[in-house]
Amino acid sequence: MATVSADCRPVASHPVHEVLTASAVDLGEGTPVRRLLPKRQRANIGAWCFVDHYGPQDIAGLTGMSVPPHPHIGLQTVTWLLEGEVLHRDSLGTKQLIRPGQLNLMTAGRGIAHSEESPADHPPVLHGVQLWTALPDRWAGVEPSFEHLPELPTAQTAGIRVTVLMGELLGARSPARTYSELVGADLAIGAATDEDVALRPDFEHGAVVVSGEAAVDGVVLGPGKLLYLGTGRDHMAVRTAGPTRLLLLGGEPFGEPLILWWNFVARTSDEIAKARADWKAGTRFGEVHGFPGPPLKAPPLPPGRLRPR
Ligand code: MN
Repeated sequence: MATVSADCRPVASHPVHEVLTASAVDLGEGTPVRRLLPKRQRANIGAWCFVDHYGPQDIAGLTGMSVPPHPHIGLQTVTWLLEGEVLHRDSLGTKQLIRPGQLNLMTAGRGIAHSEESPADHPPVLHGVQLWTALPDRWAGVEPSFEHLPELPTAQTAGIRVTVLMGELLGARSPARTYSELVGADLAIGAATDEDVALRPDFEHGAVVVSGEAAVDGVVLGPGKLLYLGTGRDHMAVRTAGPTRLLLLGGEPFGEPLILWWNFVARTSDEIAKARADWKAGTRFGEVHGFPGPPLKAPPLPPGRLRPR
């Protein structure tokens, strides 16, 4: 996944409506995924630089998710489920099951490897998101770590139950470790709603509908769309006709051009090539134990140098 592009747009210095349409990707074993970031025209929203939405998928009697051990650098992986269960293993020795309402947060820093799978005896439906935050340059080489948050803070408005994954929204603050000013929140709406959600004007924001349908600032969204909202907003209008789940992602404009290639976030082509070589050589990242299968092989590097955007 090379994301080199000349037509990537800068941070919007004012409120905008920019609808990004998901690309379909297959992570193997038939898990269909909607990739909403990065896109050709937009690399990130604050530090959020990767958004995959998968399911809901009926995996009764099937393997379900099966992502073999693979390496990361320079980012945090943020795992959030709407339905089902996923078992995380990593090269720090972590083995952690995650369920809806919980957060798995893995800080890759200088390098870590992990795998993700549906447990053998799993619920019938799998539905969730895999998000990445880019680490600012001064933290990009931090020691790898893993946190599991079994419960997250919530806030309740008239019609919206807000769960804060990272950062703060409506006075609720997540204890998850962040490395830049950002927010990630799940908005669960049970019935017809017409409300304003307060936002930080210095943040840029994006909204993703993961189930149902919502008009966000008047733009109708369903699964497979991300609405980029720009900066300069003190609220976001949310209107729904029925049960809806919405993800709000935002942060201070990141301000550092990044290279995303495969599972790596870096600043230079050389850092990417070195990480790839280290994975191939079996150094730096450690070993993931217990996954039923071999690790992933890195794809070949594209010709020429990778350029940040
Ligand atoms: Mn991963």
